[in-house]
Amino acid sequence: MRSQFLIAKGKNLDIITQAEMVEGYAPLRQDLVRATYASYLVELLDRFTAEHDRHPVMYELIANALGWLADGRDVMLVARYYELHLLSRAGFQPQLFQCVGCAEPVVEQDQFFSAELGGFLCPDCRERDRRAVAVTAVAVKVLRYLQTRNWETVRVLQLKLPLHHQLETIMHDYIIYTLERDLKSVDFLRRLRQEAALFMEEGD
Ligand SMILES: [Zn+2]
Repeated sequence: MRSQFLIAKGKNLDIITQAEMVEGYAPLRQDLVRATYASYLVELLDRFTAEHDRHPVMYELIANALGWLADGRDVMLVARYYELHLLSRAGFQPQLFQCVGCAEPVVEQDQFFSAELGGFLCPDCRERDRRAVAVTAVAVKVLRYLQTRNWETVRVLQLKLPLHHQLETIMHDYIIYTLERDLKSVDFLRRLRQEAALFMEEGD
């Protein structure tokens, strides 16, 4: 939940003298998948910000994103939009419009993504990072759309699951590389998805 606190500055520790709930996001606590995504978004914010460092723009982003999750929006779409905008605001915006190898404009066709170099590599430059992953033309288009549009425009997108998984892999590889350590929530989401897939197979 989002709350407002009144804090008295102490010599060693500060003391909370008053607390008032601003937004409860009740639906997030009734749905394990949404709760997991919410905790992932919050953890990501924690990793990309420092204590005592004011970030009003990021605060607005997380407050909105938790609201979109609670409203029953496509959780994967919320997560990808949030990741891209958080990265931009934190100074780690991936380069999606120019090749990070040759600086030529990247056209909307099949490309490669390099987590290490921080953006798209054109087919001519793919050898610059052997770990660069192939990205389909439609994923190129969607990533750019998510990075440059506001949520009101983006929220109507309906993406198929394979495309969602491709976008997730690209973003998680980049985020993990950027943070240089794995995220507990990412592992948890992967496990959850594997379990959900098993459950579906059993149900067939
Ligand atoms: Zn290039």
